[in-house]
Amino acid sequence: MLDLTYDAPKPKVISGATGDWELVIGLEVHAQVSTNAKLFSGASTQFGAEPNSNVAFVDAGMPGMLPVINQECVAQAVRTGLGLKAEINLWSAFDRKNYFYPDLPQGYQISQLYHPIVGEGEVLVELGDGTARTVRIERIHLEQDAGKSVHDMDPNMSFVDLNRTGVALMEIVSRPDIRGPEEAAAYVVKLRQIMRYLGTCDGNMQNGNLRADVNVSVCRPGDYEKYQASQDFDHLGTRCEIKNMNSMRFIQAAIEHEARRQIAILEDGGSVVQETRLYDPDKNETRSMRSKEEAHDYRYFPDPDLLPLEIEQSYVDDLAAALPELPDAKKARFIADFGLSDYDASVLTADTDPARFFEATAEGRDGKLAANWVINELFGRLKKDDLDITDSPINPDQLGDIIALITKGDISGKIAKDLFEIVYTEGGTPAEIVEQRGMKQVTDTGAIEAAVDKIIAENPAQVEKAKQNPKLAGWFVGQTMKATGGKANPKAVNEIVAKKLAE
Ligand code: ADP
Ligand code: MG
Repeated sequence: MLDLTYDAPKPKVISGATGDWELVIGLEVHAQVSTNAKLFSGASTQFGAEPNSNVAFVDAGMPGMLPVINQECVAQAVRTGLGLKAEINLWSAFDRKNYFYPDLPQGYQISQLYHPIVGEGEVLVELGDGTARTVRIERIHLEQDAGKSVHDMDPNMSFVDLNRTGVALMEIVSRPDIRGPEEAAAYVVKLRQIMRYLGTCDGNMQNGNLRADVNVSVCRPGDYEKYQASQDFDHLGTRCEIKNMNSMRFIQAAIEHEARRQIAILEDGGSVVQETRLYDPDKNETRSMRSKEEAHDYRYFPDPDLLPLEIEQSYVDDLAAALPELPDAKKARFIADFGLSDYDASVLTADTDPARFFEATAEGRDGKLAANWVINELFGRLKKDDLDITDSPINPDQLGDIIALITKGDISGKIAKDLFEIVYTEGGTPAEIVEQRGMKQVTDTGAIEAAVDKIIAENPAQVEKAKQNPKLAGWFVGQTMKATGGKANPKAVNEIVAKKLAE
């Protein structure tokens, strides 16, 4: 059994005319498996290829074709299950889900209704306020994707592109443990993050490689707790399913809108009809697509062309042993090893590339300072140039050297920013640039004293004022910094100015 922990849920509450309502949400996330070939054919999965160029006989539904399982898709589903701390089912089976659609030439989708490859798991979802909640995963099954109908290329005809037909999807089904729009988005963000770490799905929502069906219902305060205690769905309201959401923003807007629609119906004395709806982002509303279909509508039956899928525990163990470090573990390690704040650790572990960059920069250096520089200076600078971290003109060695120069006291924080800009735009070795361009911080107190003496001698009136009002010492500090080209050690300047003015 899984040991599940729940933080006290903080449901989104919507006040209606008859009292408060709470939201209950369950997600079915479709994640395209990262593999070169499709689930049951050798055709390529490459995105953006010439229409109908990646189509094998199996994908085209040719008579007599036979599906052959792609072992890498199985491995990817198992890795994903392991990443979600889920039970891996050593025995699973494929079923046919029968329905007609022009972009589904087989006339059925091969899926896993009765015996999915992955069972119960869990995801730790972090919310903006620093709290975290566990959302339970019910199952993950492997299934084929459908093709694409193109309706907007010709006024009189529709086209069908079968490139996506038969590409492997993982359908990740959550329990109805999600309590608000932000939590739903945070859940998808976390799933996406884990799969990107695992390399099992690239999470590209724009290309449709990650999309979610969102189930929403509303209930009265206290009802969800009754459901949780009993796992009896009767305590929850009737749900509607909003299909195929492919942006975090739309997921949140659709949930909010759908909940308000249901509340209006219920407060009017009506009842919610269980159905499948579509979200229209232009109008910010959901509309009915079809009444809810049941499993028996699809005449599911075991696919006679495919044997049950049997895998061995040792195979699962090998995959488990080879898993990369996952986000929760990496974040905890960054906090422990580099002394980072929770927030900085979250930002740096949001994806693998920034985490790798940070770690290489911080290795053997001041971790907190490295985090500051990566998050504030580097990310900001890259954003300005619309660059990804993998295309950063400055590498972790160079940034790390700059940080080491600051820590050693060779350069001030202000000069470091100039140095960063030079290395970023021109390249080079930071320590050499500091030498060549005379950027070294002046810690030589003699030189600083001489500069301060000169300023004091030239500004007798200011000296008188500063003796009356010690706050004016700041002016002398500023002048000294200016005179030394910003290279004087600010701490030393402050001390010397204070000492001289007191004389
Ligand atoms: P179906 O087979 O009809 O799609 P599932 O049992 O697969 O139904 O559930 C689909 C999704 O609906 C799951 O993610 C589940 O968490 C969610 N769900 C179930 N009941 C509710 C409810 N009352 N409110 C919101 N979501 C729900
Ligand atoms: Mg379902």
